[in-house]
Amino acid sequence: MSRFLSERYRSLEPYTPGEQPKCDGLIKLNTNENPFPPSPGVTDAINSAELGKLNLYPDPEAKDLIEAASRYYGVPENMIMAGNGSDELLAFSFMAFQKNGRIAFPDISYGFYEVYAGIFGATALKIPLDDSLKVNIDDYCGAEAMIVLANPNAQTGTAVGLDEIEKVLKTNENSVVLVDEAYVNFGAESSLQLTQKYDNLLVIQTFSKARNLAGGRVGLAFADSEIIKDLNKIKYSFNPYNLNRLSILAAVASINDDEYFKSCVGQITDTRKIFVGGMEELGFFALPSLANFVLVRHDKISGAEFYRELRERNILVRHFNDRRIADYVRITIGGREDMAALTEAAREILARRD
Ligand SMILES: *Cc1c(COP(=O)(O)O)cnc(C)c1O
Repeated sequence: MSRFLSERYRSLEPYTPGEQPKCDGLIKLNTNENPFPPSPGVTDAINSAELGKLNLYPDPEAKDLIEAASRYYGVPENMIMAGNGSDELLAFSFMAFQKNGRIAFPDISYGFYEVYAGIFGATALKIPLDDSLKVNIDDYCGAEAMIVLANPNAQTGTAVGLDEIEKVLKTNENSVVLVDEAYVNFGAESSLQLTQKYDNLLVIQTFSKARNLAGGRVGLAFADSEIIKDLNKIKYSFNPYNLNRLSILAAVASINDDEYFKSCVGQITDTRKIFVGGMEELGFFALPSLANFVLVRHDKISGAEFYRELRERNILVRHFNDRRIADYVRITIGGREDMAALTEAAREILARRD
């Protein structure tokens, strides 16, 4: 730390992204990326003519993307905003909507929530998941705080239903309820249409997981038009050209190739089922996941050791030191062969412990 760093950031604990190692031959199942490349339409859209326009600023409104999203989701354009990854939209939201300086979210969820609460000077109210690592929705009713729920939840993969989201919305009429739907396409119910009914609902989605575009950095926010105006106010006070030209093109092309999107998501959810079945046969316990990852543990091996043993076999997964999930590892659902290789490695690791 230099002696120049502002006092207010001295104790900030930054987010730790999953490793992005360069070496080939590694099976990378640690950051919930999509195993499939972007739609061929994306490659076509980013052509040399478009590259030749990089001397020009992008459209600050990302109008082409907002129009495409409006058509696709059936939500009016003034209820949508695009961000440089959903992380940026989360940041804008934490700046804009903390309630009396308070933001409530589950004790086990996306690590960035706590970091954003810290950097934007809010108090993080970490509400414990129940003993089966699920969200207990009653804990969020009348919370007197901005509420942030990832649905499905990050790290656990479990989801709540729309009736439960509605309960939170109704009991927190004067707070923004942010539903982070990074993983929603892998089997959970989206709250998107509820934005037409509740003016305190803010739904954020990403192109990083189900839309094969983690490297493109695109996210979308959906909410009542007044909330979207507020978010734009923050954006135009911070970074008006938040999406670059190529990412806007990529995102539009992704929306326009719905068949490819559905096919990739279908393959991932099929693989999830086969993978979980295989791991259960080996005696693993898997939390019921509606995301593109599963949290698994086994009585015979600690989470840290399983992580290390897999790593020795060139398979990279994610282990969290958080006490409540330290027994588990989080495994991204990748291609079918990679998952079979992991199951085989797990069999071998366990056999050596008998
Ligand atoms: C991956 C993830 C994000 C970040 O998405 P980007 O669009 O890549 O910034 C946000 N929220 C959750 C819960 C995630 O898992």
